[in-house]
Amino acid sequence: MTRILAIANQKGGVAKTTTVESLGAALADLDVSVLVVDLDPQGCLTFSLGHDPDQLSSSVHDVLLGDEEIADVLLDTEDKVTLLPATIDLAGAEALLLMRPGREYALKRALAEVSEDFDVVIVDCPPSLGVLTLNGLTAADEVIVPLQCETLAHRGVGQLLRTVREVQQITNPNLTMLGAVATLFDARTTHSRDVLADVSDRYDLPVLDPPIPRTVRFAEASASGTSVMRGRKNKGATAYRTLAENLWKHWEAGEKVGTFEV
Ligand code: ADP
Ligand code: MG
Repeated sequence: MTRILAIANQKGGVAKTTTVESLGAALADLDVSVLVVDLDPQGCLTFSLGHDPDQLSSSVHDVLLGDEEIADVLLDTEDKVTLLPATIDLAGAEALLLMRPGREYALKRALAEVSEDFDVVIVDCPPSLGVLTLNGLTAADEVIVPLQCETLAHRGVGQLLRTVREVQQITNPNLTMLGAVATLFDARTTHSRDVLADVSDRYDLPVLDPPIPRTVRFAEASASGTSVMRGRKNKGATAYRTLAENLWKHWEAGEKVGTFEV
């Protein structure tokens, strides 16, 4: 059975794309077959997986609008995951999809065509709660919210959780909120923990174990176009590997994903 996981938060810079890329690479290293979906018109996931969005002739945009078969648009990557890429065309998809009936189901329908080929699909949602994110949440079995552990991290979380509840009521009753993943976590101060405890209490949102520490390797990796999961060992990559193992045990053995006590 294919598991579809959406990574969503309408706030930018909270490590959605980093989480999709790192979990994808870590799962692929466990010999899991992984498809990652770039739903952000900025194409950061596409770019960081070694494909220049400006050079692509077709993308998830054409798939959502029914102009291309999903299988014809998929790309291989050095991270051993398969990519459904995004290009800037996708910025126009919101408006074009709005005129279509069943617009929230476009991604779900497309993924059904290839789901037999993958154990896990991870969807990188854009920084908005528009039609594209609704497509991601409608296609998904589960959703994880990356939370950057800084002051005001809670802003927008209420709105996101409301959107998730609406999707559960209207387009996808099977959607499960797995919880938050703490990103850019700084274990040396109490600030990260205080922020997490506040958000977790306020919204009754479990925080998945482990938190992902802030490490300079991530910024270096984005700049060099190489994955942080490759190359030298670092604590960020190690944390993503543990999270990927926990998720895989949850999917394979039905174990609950461990939570981090804040
Ligand atoms: P989003 O997709 O939510 O906008 P990104 O994944 O693009 O966020 O991350 C935003 C920035 O934060 C990027 O420059 C990325 O390299 C950096 N980043 C992500 N995770 C970490 C981390 N654990 N430590 C340090 N920098 C990080
Ligand atoms: Mg992103």
